[in-house]
Amino acid sequence: MKFGYSEVCLAHDTGKRHPENPDRLRAIRQALTRKHGVEYIDPVPATEAEVTAVHDAAYVEEFREFCANGGGNWDPDTVAVSETWDAALQSSGLACWSARRALAGDDGRDTPFALGRPPGHHAVGDDAMGFCFFNNAAVAAQSVIYRDEAKRVAIFDWDVHHGNGTQDIFYDDENVFYASIHEEGLYPGTGEIEEIGEADGKGMTLNVPLPAGSGDPEYRTTFDELVAPAIVEFDPDLLLVSAGFDAHRHDPISRMRVSTEGYGMLTARVRAVGDEVDAPLGFVLEGGYGLDTLSDGVAIVHEVFDGMEPVVPDEEADEDVQELVSAVRASHSLLDPA
Ligand code: ZN
Repeated sequence: MKFGYSEVCLAHDTGKRHPENPDRLRAIRQALTRKHGVEYIDPVPATEAEVTAVHDAAYVEEFREFCANGGGNWDPDTVAVSETWDAALQSSGLACWSARRALAGDDGRDTPFALGRPPGHHAVGDDAMGFCFFNNAAVAAQSVIYRDEAKRVAIFDWDVHHGNGTQDIFYDDENVFYASIHEEGLYPGTGEIEEIGEADGKGMTLNVPLPAGSGDPEYRTTFDELVAPAIVEFDPDLLLVSAGFDAHRHDPISRMRVSTEGYGMLTARVRAVGDEVDAPLGFVLEGGYGLDTLSDGVAIVHEVFDGMEPVVPDEEADEDVQELVSAVRASHSLLDPA
């Protein structure tokens, strides 16, 4: 893969005890060191115009001043230093790079993966939340739509948390489809099945809150029966993956049971659905807080694009999850237009 990476993102120093710290990127780099076919690109940061296309100008200004004054705790979880402003613009720029390179034809072994931080999917239009300041995937999607490089963008978010910010930003937008598989009841508490979008965006949001303990079979079934057919029905020009690795069975902050191979399986399925609708793929890093599991997860995504065949679980999904999947399929307007 081609990895977007910038030292600027390391300077967003949240402190040693914060789970979202620069060691995450260092661990990923370390894990990729000996892999075949890894290339790094350091793209330009996002412009303020790109950021204010999805964030309120007043919030962006407030965040800039907050950093200029040395930063601190924006909220109990979300920490900035003076360098965070540049890191946040860079992290959004990396996501824009991923979207643009995908649309320019980088695929297969050249598929782009933006390794930025701070992450983005909790940042809403007018506020930072949950370690996130700018919503990188949303900035990227809006940027390519604005420049008419794509008309319709799908964002599939496999981070263990619901990407409330991404959902919120595009909730009434018919041109961006947002699908999330997340752990039920976890931060930030949004992402119920009933949240499907509104106005022109009705049906353009798909939420599947899985119970704690869900693992590879449950993710496989949810992807195959809900996410994939919805993406096919939406028929995007670009498929972005908000790739967090915190649903891993050894991640310290969730109770999900996805294996490293499971992320490989999901990657192969995302690639297959992208091929089916002829939509190029761009990856954007979100969460993942076990340094080993995060870096193994990114490495297996890379390996799948380098030719590795991931193991597919042969167990059936848990019965409760099968029922949940049936209920969502029967009720979601994109999956059951009747
Ligand atoms: Zn997360």
